[in-house]
Amino acid sequence: MRVLVAGGAGYIGSVVTAALLEGGHEVTVLDDLSTGHADAVPEGARFVQASLQESAPVLAEVRPEAVLHFAAKSLVGESQVRPELYWEHNVGGSLALLEAMRAADCRRIVFSSTAATYGEPDQVPIPEDAPTRPTNTYGATKLAVDAMLTSYATAYDFAAVSLRYFNVAGAAHGLGERHTTETHLIPIALQVAAGRRESMTIYGEDYPTPDGTCIRDYIHVSDLADAHLLALTAPEPGEHRVYNLGNGTGFSVQQVVDAVREVTGHPVPVEVGARRAGDPAQLVASSDRIRADLGWTPRHPDLTGIVRDAWEVAQARNEA
Ligand code: UDP
Repeated sequence: MRVLVAGGAGYIGSVVTAALLEGGHEVTVLDDLSTGHADAVPEGARFVQASLQESAPVLAEVRPEAVLHFAAKSLVGESQVRPELYWEHNVGGSLALLEAMRAADCRRIVFSSTAATYGEPDQVPIPEDAPTRPTNTYGATKLAVDAMLTSYATAYDFAAVSLRYFNVAGAAHGLGERHTTETHLIPIALQVAAGRRESMTIYGEDYPTPDGTCIRDYIHVSDLADAHLLALTAPEPGEHRVYNLGNGTGFSVQQVVDAVREVTGHPVPVEVGARRAGDPAQLVASSDRIRADLGWTPRHPDLTGIVRDAWEVAQARNEA
């Protein structure tokens, strides 16, 4: 298939681009490099540096059969203090992309949504029909785009899938997390193990969980890539599907730190700090729907393996 990957110079977009190329697809990456890296775009993909707002001429020229849309601002803390950036880039940018698709008669899209659309859950594992009550602007903007996709499916026969990611981690095709502002647990712990940071803070150990630290559902980026390839052809015109993507198994912050110590063989000094605002005690996905509908199963559910892959790639890049 001829596909356009918006945000293909970022962590997840670049790994999915590599998987698409491996699957024989023809890929054009569109990315404004606001947070991505040109050298992360896999060889074999065409690269166009442009924003979502500038995407119309690119789509008109490429005439893709499908779009995979990863391009977004994704820092929860920043979204609380600079909400206009999130409404403009995530919602305004997505609207521009959908309009560019409509003009180019491309009506198939896979969108990177998020567990943050659910907010504080009433039940875990979280199914897709759980209430959506985002607790931050980032989650609210992603939820708005999900609603946009439902409208475009209904009104304009788009075939759309929203994949709601839980905690994406690990590395594949030599590509891993490379954020300028790193806020995520696993890369931070790996930087401490490598001696690039002195220590790290565990945000709270008084949660109602077995060891008192927060529980999250870490999914290997390769498993996420598999899901995108399956989702690409799944919906019929007029359909907008929503799928959660996680391992279905939660690991605590303490378990992650222990796994980093085990994999790297280095000490990871930690301090225990206050809870981080807006952090629910447990976020674990029910991925039953995508398993049942598309036959997806995580091939790398083991935490040690996820941490090992992230460590190897970060070390090869001399970043951890
Ligand atoms: N966390 C932590 N210390 C850090 C970074 C994260 O204790 O330096 C915790 C955070 O409170 C959460 C979990 O690790 O419970 C995962 O956080 P991350 O930011 O990686 O992902 P999120 O779940 O917020 O999307």
